Amino acid sequence: MIKLTELQKSNRAKCIAFADEFVNPDITLRDKTGTFSKTLWEKCSQLNLHGVFVSEKNGGLNYSLQDGLSLFESIGFSFRDNGLSFGIAAQQLSCAITIDKYASNENHIKLLNDIVNGKLIVAHAITEKSSGSNVFDLSSGYSLQNDNNSISIKGEKTYCSNLPVADYMLCYSSALDDLGKNNVCSAFLISTRELGDIKYIDKMGLNTCLMGEVNFEINVDTDALIGKEGTGVSMFQEAITYERLGMASLHLGTIERLINEAIEWVKNRKSGSTYLSSHQAITHNLVKLHNEWLTTRSYMYYLTSKENKFSKLFIHASILKDKVSELYVDSCLKILQIYGGLGYTKKNEIERMMRDAMASKIYSGTSEIQKEIVWKFIS
Ligand SMILES: Cc1cc2nc3c(=O)[nH]c(=O)nc-3n(C[C@H](O)[C@H](O)[C@H](O)COP(=O)(O)OP(=O)(O)OC[C@H]3O[C@@H](n4cnc5c(N)ncnc54)[C@H](O)[C@@H]3O)c2cc1C
Repeated sequence: MIKLTELQKSNRAKCIAFADEFVNPDITLRDKTGTFSKTLWEKCSQLNLHGVFVSEKNGGLNYSLQDGLSLFESIGFSFRDNGLSFGIAAQQLSCAITIDKYASNENHIKLLNDIVNGKLIVAHAITEKSSGSNVFDLSSGYSLQNDNNSISIKGEKTYCSNLPVADYMLCYSSALDDLGKNNVCSAFLISTRELGDIKYIDKMGLNTCLMGEVNFEINVDTDALIGKEGTGVSMFQEAITYERLGMASLHLGTIERLINEAIEWVKNRKSGSTYLSSHQAITHNLVKLHNEWLTTRSYMYYLTSKENKFSKLFIHASILKDKVSELYVDSCLKILQIYGGLGYTKKNEIERMMRDAMASKIYSGTSEIQKEIVWKFIS
């Protein structure tokens, strides 16, 4: 059995109190109107949620992998606003960690401090319409200008979470060689003010996390580079490992709450003279979900134990992310059915959870891509 440490228990209690007071009361309205709340985003810095894995010198908590993932699990458990928690996790896991580890100039460190305190938002931008799951088949390209002080970048990025409200975009692009072909990949931190028109993309769920796309052709200073030139692929692999582990932990927390609430519901809901909990067709579905959740959660905590080196977790991050996203969708489908007519209405949050959960099989690499990664490893 997993025994949370005192820190992990205390973080869970803090998340529950914070969510009940600030996050959960207006989520139905924010979801309906597709509203991102910057006030709430900033407020989350009270718990230092924008600095979970950021070093202490840059204002973060500098948590170990286990304490950080446990905190994300607690956010998933207590926040009923999946868009907010997804947006926070996406920024932390795919941008803040990378900037913290690889930023080389004072300006980036100042920006990171403002990201941690919730004032600035940074969006992660790798996906392009033409590349999709083939992430590094990038059509966007950059080249050093004749003055050697600036870089011209031309390209398009799509499906970027937080982009319509972001101040910066961490953008992956390939160097154009003399023949105009892409070769090495590098990452740039670009002010969204330089980008021109960012288009908002309407979507099925996660309505409080806004998604955007952009076509751009800009010149940036060479110090927009994050990490050394040509290290984009390795920085991305590291970030995506964090992202897959972190998103999986977030969703494990949400699944736990959904199962707990469904158990309470079947124990109290009478249809006619019988309680739903008297039907094995119902309770066995909840038992199956519970058992899958418990074993997957144990795997997550096992991965974060100290004897496992982060560099060995790439493959496990794919296994975990694939398992959790399938369990998340399956839990929502089965639990919606258990709530009957109520489950299909907007009076119950399961319909929103269902819409939100569907995306988990697509972002951070689709379920098919996770299986491709695992297949290469086991074959
Ligand atoms: C809610 C949400 C948030 C996102 N946030 C971000 C973000 O912040 N930043 C960012 O850069 N991107 C983001 N994305 C984009 C996401 O990473 C991509 O949508 C994803 O990688 C798939 O690319 P695609 O949509 O082009 O699908 P495609 O690559 O066109 O794939 C279409 C289908 O074909 C399957 N497929 C493709 N190749 C293979 C293969 N080799 N083997 C088997 N099946 C295959 C896929 O699994 C999928 O089912 C987000 C997406 C969503 C839904």
